[in-house]
Amino acid sequence: MIQWDYPPRCLSPHVSPSRSHCESLTWNAPPREEEESRPVRWTCDCTPISYELCQEGDRMFIRRTERRQGRRLVVESDRWPAPEASGMWNALLGGLVR
Ligand SMILES: [Zn+2]
Repeated sequence: MIQWDYPPRCLSPHVSPSRSHCESLTWNAPPREEEESRPVRWTCDCTPISYELCQEGDRMFIRRTERRQGRRLVVESDRWPAPEASGMWNALLGGLVR
């Protein structure tokens, strides 16, 4: 079990600040009929915006969760084949896409 201290200990990576040539991903509202998906990687949730790389069948996507005034705003990227999704995830962590 993970026990959170205050200030929280950060066990997961954080995204780097966006770089000047940062590209924008397309963020879509989550589909109403949710396919079964599971997070395989995630960023630290100590900041208001956190990300998860999710597996959905043989495709992957990035889920972005923003916590604002007690509400959770969830959007999702397009679905990609795994190698492309891995590249996108690394680009996200590196501040190259957002
Ligand atoms: Zn953190």
